[in-house]
Amino acid sequence: MSTVSAHCIFCDIVKGAAEVSVCYEDTEALAFMDIQPVNPGHTLVVARAHHESLEELPKALGAHLFGVALKLGPVIHKASHAEGMNLIVSSGAAAGQDVYHFHIHLIPRKKGDGFDVQLPFGRSDMPDRTMLDAMAARIISALRDPARAREEGGGKRGAKSGSRNAR
Ligand code: 5GP
Ligand code: ZN
Repeated sequence: MSTVSAHCIFCDIVKGAAEVSVCYEDTEALAFMDIQPVNPGHTLVVARAHHESLEELPKALGAHLFGVALKLGPVIHKASHAEGMNLIVSSGAAAGQDVYHFHIHLIPRKKGDGFDVQLPFGRSDMPDRTMLDAMAARIISALRDPARAREEGGGKRGAKSGSRNAR
């Protein structure tokens, strides 16, 4: 939804009501330096409109924001003398979102900088292929029929995914 449910610092920034260091703007988006950067150059890409999470973000606007992130990524990489970049979206409290105005983090990385986005996750097992196929089938089913998938609580029905490649 595009309603502001509580005070939003990123809306303040968009309105010009808070101090910020902007590095990119257009009619729909703004990019600025994170106030507490993981590394120098840590940038946030936001929409001017308030949308809280990935679920609420209109698809075209999401595509635009990722387009801005893709445009800025190589430039930030160069300007910050990075050795790598992480693009991160935290959507929802369980995913660690702190500011409920959808944003994309562009985080320049250096070897040994101590920031950890460790994948694969060390505490995860590798499920057998039938489990992976079943999950893929649920997603395919939900893509075809979102309403019914919601009714069934995301239950499995009919769609075949099959293993494409042995991994
Ligand atoms: P999240 O956990 O929601 O993905 O990340 C929120 C990010 O917003 C954090 O990295 C935090 O440092 C940044 N942040 C929070 N408040 C402000 C602010 O007032 N100005 C700027 N520039 N960044 C902020
Ligand atoms: Zn906002």
